[in-house]
Amino acid sequence: MIAVTNGMAPKADLRGMAKHSVAHSIFRFKCPHCREGEFFVDRNPYHLSTVGDVLEACPVCERKYTPEPGFYYGGMYVAYALAVATGTSIFVATLVLWPSASVGAKAGLVAVGLVVFAPWLYALSKTIWANLFIRYKGVATTEAERRYAEQRAAAR
Ligand SMILES: [Zn+2]
Repeated sequence: MIAVTNGMAPKADLRGMAKHSVAHSIFRFKCPHCREGEFFVDRNPYHLSTVGDVLEACPVCERKYTPEPGFYYGGMYVAYALAVATGTSIFVATLVLWPSASVGAKAGLVAVGLVVFAPWLYALSKTIWANLFIRYKGVATTEAERRYAEQRAAAR
């Protein structure tokens, strides 16, 4: 990723997302805890065999991504909200861009749009759900890293 900096402003990528913002974690599929490590086994949601497969823990800060069994079932509520928002947006877009189309054609476009966006929305629902419950702490403040630093200091 190419970072744009001017020395004073926080690092942002080319799409203007601040490097450690919630949006960066959600849309770039990064760890909610440090916002640096990858969140999914494969960051491309259109690789359908691995879509939504969350790593066990963050490769950077070692934060566990699944605090309890079944944690991501709650992401279904987010996925439902995203699907409704996407379907409504597509329908409104067809009203504006193609007003003469029949209701069936508009509903068909909504259905096709939802199928096309489904893997991406599914992945987003998981990063949004994780960000609701896993607080941002930065890279260096995890318990695991502190213990590791203490062990290294004691070994000297
Ligand atoms: Zn992390």
